[in-house]
Amino acid sequence: MVEERPEREGMEFDVVIVGAGPAGLAAAIRLKQLDPDRTVVVLEKGSEVGAHILSGAVVDPIGLDRLIPDWRTDPDRPLKTQVAEDRFYYLTGKGGLRLLNWSMPPLMSNHGFFVGSLGSVVRWLGARAEALGVEIYPGFAASEPLFAGNGALIGVATGDMGVGRDGKPKPSFVRGMELRGKYTLIAEGARGSLAKQLIARFRLDEGREPQKFGIGLKELWQVDPAQFQPGLVQHSFGWPLTAGASGGSFVYHYGDNLVSAGFVVHLNYTNPTLSPFDEFQRFKTHPKIAKTFAGGKRLAYGARAISGGGWQSVPKLSFPGGTLIGCAAGFLNFARIKGLHNAILSGMLAAEKTHEALAQGRDNDDLVAYENAWRGSDIGRDLHKVRNVKPLWKRLGLTAGVALGGFDMWTNQLAGVSMFGTLKHGKSDSDSLKPLAEVTPIVYPKPDGVVSFDKLSSVFLSNTNHEEDQPIHLKLKDLDVPIRDNLPKFGEPARLYCPAGVYEVVYDDEAAKTNPRFVINAQNCVHCKACDIKDPAQNITWTTPEGGGGPNYAEM
Ligand SMILES: Cc1cc2nc3c(=O)[nH]c(=O)nc-3n(C[C@H](O)[C@H](O)[C@H](O)COP(=O)(O)OP(=O)(O)OC[C@H]3O[C@@H](n4cnc5c(N)ncnc54)[C@H](O)[C@@H]3O)c2cc1C
Ligand code: SF4
Repeated sequence: MVEERPEREGMEFDVVIVGAGPAGLAAAIRLKQLDPDRTVVVLEKGSEVGAHILSGAVVDPIGLDRLIPDWRTDPDRPLKTQVAEDRFYYLTGKGGLRLLNWSMPPLMSNHGFFVGSLGSVVRWLGARAEALGVEIYPGFAASEPLFAGNGALIGVATGDMGVGRDGKPKPSFVRGMELRGKYTLIAEGARGSLAKQLIARFRLDEGREPQKFGIGLKELWQVDPAQFQPGLVQHSFGWPLTAGASGGSFVYHYGDNLVSAGFVVHLNYTNPTLSPFDEFQRFKTHPKIAKTFAGGKRLAYGARAISGGGWQSVPKLSFPGGTLIGCAAGFLNFARIKGLHNAILSGMLAAEKTHEALAQGRDNDDLVAYENAWRGSDIGRDLHKVRNVKPLWKRLGLTAGVALGGFDMWTNQLAGVSMFGTLKHGKSDSDSLKPLAEVTPIVYPKPDGVVSFDKLSSVFLSNTNHEEDQPIHLKLKDLDVPIRDNLPKFGEPARLYCPAGVYEVVYDDEAAKTNPRFVINAQNCVHCKACDIKDPAQNITWTTPEGGGGPNYAEM
């Protein structure tokens, strides 16, 4: 029997925004700049603005310059370190090659950009938004889209609080709220849980290439001052990834002896025994890299998916009542590993089109002007130039793919043309794994506890916390798939691609592998969304846990 819950209370706004990342906050700020009387609310599932934000980050300031032209003179500005030097490496097992900067396509240069923490950027943007009268509610996850009788999106509902693991209300039960808006902007970042439902419901991906993703892992280190080079921005590709996998690393020096080190693995890798977490740990042991961390202290750890399909994978962005913005729309430039600038620009563009519609007295219709504008905007120009890089990497492998991808970026940037037209991505990331029987298993070295670490001690540094007595937010469509299908065919890859050790296969007798069972340690989840993307059976759906749960990143 379905148990009755009380009616939800509702609140009305001009615009409801889901997600207090750079896209959502830029949209909120722009709406208020255009009309201070508009009522704008932003919902954020993290316990505070920035708690779930993880990025590099080297920031192309084009978005910030347009949104807040005086940001560079604000004494409290969150970005103070300017890029001083760009280095690109091709790594081999023991050595590597530094690529000459002049050989890199100009769009890969970070000259004039800033290095810092995106968490600090959004906290600062949040304060600016609140000063303009935007209502921001951290600790509230938008768990359900709300639709009118005619099918248009009319807002979102926040999740109920105080529900036990058995799905029944506890004494602390509080019913969720309905936040209804004339327009709702979805700014959930890569693989948003509402965005996924809306893309399916309104068939927004029809006629587009599948969205592609990567998983980005990051650690923040306080390094020995002798190893610190303020403004040094270093990228690498190659080792430790081998055939069938692509991605690369970043190491950014900024602030007070801080180094942001990370690794992105494209989620179209083929070997099911690959562990993105362990690839990252191994990367840090490379002789050219490890010295940076000697005598330093690891302060924080986290992981987050990034969307990377670019130009050809962006779904239709508008539908009755709402729009997708930022990385929920797929606006990350994968070749540059940059999405913050496009998140801000798309938030602004959507806000401007929403403002125009509201000024005409419209509501809950299709903001098709936004969909029609982005390809001809700076966002479109940014993504168009790099549209073939990822397909070329996939088709030709590392060396030839990187070389031709680089050549293609040159011709696109200098002449506005590509000899390849627009290449297709083909398969989705969940379709790319080969069966265990067809691969050589990857064996990872044990962590040394100095530069490389295990998953559990890493998750500890993400300050992840979920109320334990709540329904598991990682939903399996079919409970039997992990052991019946995924284990024999792929060795159940969720054990390895999850960067937080959420998924385990346990046995009565580990050595004899008897009676395997699939265990979900949902309380460890850092909300990266990799399982929702990579599960070969597409059997896992990430849903919002009780608001406020998840990582508590301070400076990521
Ligand atoms: C490892 C890594 C390195 C990167 N490096 C760089 C870089 O150097 N430079 C750069 O420009 N970009 C970089 N990026 C990309 C950049 O971080 C993103 O492009 C940018 O954060 C996208 O902004 P967004 O607002 O669209 O989404 P996000 O920043 O992901 O913000 C989304 C917000 O919405 C909230 N949210 C999600 N769902 C809900 C819900 N249902 N209810 C309520 N709240 C919700 C989330 O908690 C989050 O706060 C990197 C990304 C990663 C993962
Ligand atoms: S359970 Fe899924 S979303 Fe959570 S950390 Fe693991 S892979 Fe990421």
